[in-house]
Amino acid sequence: MENETLFNEDAEPPGTMPGLVAAHDEVTNFFSSSENNTQPSPAKSKPERLYFPFKDSPRAKAFRKVFYPEITRIEWFDWRWQLQNAIRDAHTLDAIIGLSDNERQAMMNPSGDLPFAVTPYYASLITGLDPSAPLRRSVVPVVDECLHTKGEEEDPLCEDADSPVPGIVHRYPDRVLFLVTDICATYCRYCTRSRIFGRQHQCFIDTAKWERALDYIASNTNIRDVLLSGGDPLTLTDDKLEWLLSRLKAISHVEIIRIGTKAPAVLPQRITPALTSMLKKYHPLWMSIHVTHPDELTPEMSTACIRLADAGIPLGSQTVLLSGINDNVATMTRLMHGLMQIRVRPYYLYQCDPIPGSSHFRTPISKGLEIIQGLRGHTTGYAVPTYVVDAPGGGGKIPLLPEYAIGRDPDGLLMRNYEGRTFRYPDNAAESKDIH
Ligand code: SF4
Repeated sequence: MENETLFNEDAEPPGTMPGLVAAHDEVTNFFSSSENNTQPSPAKSKPERLYFPFKDSPRAKAFRKVFYPEITRIEWFDWRWQLQNAIRDAHTLDAIIGLSDNERQAMMNPSGDLPFAVTPYYASLITGLDPSAPLRRSVVPVVDECLHTKGEEEDPLCEDADSPVPGIVHRYPDRVLFLVTDICATYCRYCTRSRIFGRQHQCFIDTAKWERALDYIASNTNIRDVLLSGGDPLTLTDDKLEWLLSRLKAISHVEIIRIGTKAPAVLPQRITPALTSMLKKYHPLWMSIHVTHPDELTPEMSTACIRLADAGIPLGSQTVLLSGINDNVATMTRLMHGLMQIRVRPYYLYQCDPIPGSSHFRTPISKGLEIIQGLRGHTTGYAVPTYVVDAPGGGGKIPLLPEYAIGRDPDGLLMRNYEGRTFRYPDNAAESKDIH
């Protein structure tokens, strides 16, 4: 975790000059595009507090002063400003991080449909000139994305085959995935759902689609759990999100709602008091937060997660195992420990899905097992996520564990502990039952 502390800074008056990116011709106001395509009636209309009223970190403040000198602290902490000013082009990114030839070539000649965007906030985490920096590698394209290898598929998990209506994936009997938007604040280069994004930011939000999806959930009484995902549901406005939550809450057999998001890591400003006040009306509400590396665990993300936790939302983490980014025990331990400090319970560690152009991100399965072995027993049990492979072909998540049961002898089960020492458990319950 970064060794930064929150500090006092007086709010500045609103500025009048555009930011670095807002001034650029190629910037797409994708937030507006989502507004244009959706007209659900809000459950309740009320003024929203737009800014994230926290102290910013020395790192963010220094970055803002260099690259966005005309932008006030209030604008910087406004999640809408962050979305509207997401960096989308090579020229602007180059001015901030100094693109390598490889990155520049990949930015100018994109492969596939996955867009490029990073929020100015997240750009503040990838400054520096090292193209191998972990967070930079996770969001900045490289030419390796053009390399399609054996076994890679647009939809490796066959989600489309399990989609009874647009936006719903119904794989497991008692729960559904509800893809509510195709917009993210920052795009991960290894995204499993890269197929749903469009470079023109044609928004997936569509009232008719949402209604059909809600009808499907309402008419299938075995669905007790709905996971809102996308894209990132927290790119929706509070009103739109509340409209969805209230409709789901009104379905009597829906017992819990979950939200999958990367907003606390890439857009922590989104976690406003207005948002958490709204969310807490829809308990039991759970949240899975996508995190990649300890460099994301900034004071801003910490504040966002603690605010969500204070709203009574159980928080779990989801991390994709990525070659050269987080694929070692020390990095993963730091990440899991840091998450626990900000009240996020490590939940899943995913093997990277084989989407086209992702071979440079994928590790051997043995690497995931090695990391779990390096965590289990060496740290708090709560800090150990479940390592899963989402089975290509639509088999769902399959958990993998290192071998701890190493054999049997006449006296019981032989097991290896975290130190590699062997122990025997007298596994004779069956015989005991026979005797009694
Ligand atoms: S935040 Fe999630 S949905 Fe969005 S690009 Fe990253 S992995 Fe994909």
